[in-house]
Amino acid sequence: MRTPLVIGNWKMFGTLAEARPLATGVRDGLRRVRGADVALCPPFTALAAVGEIVRESAVALGGQTCHWDAAGAHTGEISPGMLVELGCRYVLLGHSERRKEIGETDDLVNRKVKAAIAHGLTPVLCVGETAEERRQGLTFTTVEGQLRAGLAGIPAETIAQGVLAYEPVWAIGTGQNATSAQASEVHGYLRGLLSELTSKEIAQAVRILYGGSVKADNAAELVAAPDIDGALVGGASLKVADFVAIAKHAARAATAPRGA
Ligand code: PEP
Repeated sequence: MRTPLVIGNWKMFGTLAEARPLATGVRDGLRRVRGADVALCPPFTALAAVGEIVRESAVALGGQTCHWDAAGAHTGEISPGMLVELGCRYVLLGHSERRKEIGETDDLVNRKVKAAIAHGLTPVLCVGETAEERRQGLTFTTVEGQLRAGLAGIPAETIAQGVLAYEPVWAIGTGQNATSAQASEVHGYLRGLLSELTSKEIAQAVRILYGGSVKADNAAELVAAPDIDGALVGGASLKVADFVAIAKHAARAATAPRGA
């Protein structure tokens, strides 16, 4: 049984004045909720403040990326150890916005995944196809390439500690989510690949999140699908009520029969 995980990716939103009430609202809104793990990934500048607010609550903290080196002359970067020092448990890696805007390659993502694990962070490896790749029938080819490259050289027992996120690029920030059938098909494929790379047991234990226009009104159906173990939420994570509602749907899905 995999505990659902719901992660809020605030992207480059959240001044301290905005981040504090948002984190406080999420913490308080989920105080009595059991059955789902929840994490917030604010911008680096808000990590300390949000960390202070969620400390000793069930809400965990995560970074939106990190460098692969432990320290060094990398202007503007942040190391995995720095995230740990601020109380982060998770780090998003290979998000499509970073692949596209910053030019992160599969090789860099792989180095980051290894560095995150070496520092005790749980990497959330993001994979997903563009609209054009889906049109050309290349969805499985794309996610398979990203998964194999992202996890290259990582031992099976270590892969077991990670989280995957299937985020079709065409669904991110567009309001057009994948249907639960579309997402389930890819999640099943990814789990099959994980099984090949590790073992059936490990593949069954790794959480695979869905991300891409998850909202309060479509989350219930998505997280109820077999093989969808929670959500990576962008836009809707910036509204307390919406994010809390999504996390509650995931917690409910954990206690309801899967696929019901
Ligand atoms: C994301 O940033 O990972 C994401 C899924 O964004 P949105 O929910 O806004 O589509």
